[in-house]
Amino acid sequence: LVSRKKKPEDTIIDIKGEKIGNGKTHFVMGPCAVESYEQVAEVAKAVKQKGIKLLRGGAFKPRTSPYDFQGLGLEGLQILRQIADEYDLAVVSEIVNPAHIENAIEYVDVIQIGARNMQNFELLKAAGDVDKPVLLKRGLSATISEFINAAEYIFSRGNGNIILCERGIRTYEKATRNTLDISAVPILKQETHLPVMVDVTHSTGRRDLLVPMAKAALAVGADGVMAEVHPDPAVALSDSAQQMDIQTFNDFMDELDRYVISHS
Ligand code: PEP
Ligand code: MN
Repeated sequence: LVSRKKKPEDTIIDIKGEKIGNGKTHFVMGPCAVESYEQVAEVAKAVKQKGIKLLRGGAFKPRTSPYDFQGLGLEGLQILRQIADEYDLAVVSEIVNPAHIENAIEYVDVIQIGARNMQNFELLKAAGDVDKPVLLKRGLSATISEFINAAEYIFSRGNGNIILCERGIRTYEKATRNTLDISAVPILKQETHLPVMVDVTHSTGRRDLLVPMAKAALAVGADGVMAEVHPDPAVALSDSAQQMDIQTFNDFMDELDRYVISHS
């Protein structure tokens, strides 16, 4: 169902008026994790000022260590919803438990399925059973074919509003947190009719690479870019080494605005 052979024309996903896949560039920006109302509000204000519609933030955080901050859970989703409504933004947030999907669609505009859950088939089925766009991230060690099959799981249950997100894969290279598989973008665009985004934060794990990698993503045809923004990354409860502060985010957007013709 996701194959371009089945449907030659691009799928366009309407998220509160933002039409992902329409040939323009879309940005998904926000903190790694929701930490407080004030923290998200500060980021939302900056995001809004740059004309961006999609606000991200993790409420359920899939952390490597059980002792690390696990997210605010439902309270985090409530904070996101409240702020998104205040700023007229759309919420993109990760759901990790199939049993949470029904409840979460009340708060989120896009269900994010994270890299660690790309092959959580029960979660994929649950996301496929609801009428809500899904942002599906590529697994840490997933082949492109496995990634496409994960999208097929969602689509086959009836939900065709899927955005694919390349977020870097595990390789032997240690200079970056993951290796951004830039070739995945044109391959996914050729093989499927779904929109494709690139997460420059988790793929690189390096603030100094966000601008060049975002340019690379757009140069090879990505429909959008995801990155993390925090008012004070040094004290962030997760991904403190790689989130942008507000000034860096503004510079990032100004640089990309010079590079792309138009976004929204
Ligand atoms: C995220 O986007 O919040 C995240 C945890 O990313 P990933 O699933 O790609 O590691
Ligand atoms: Mn993160």
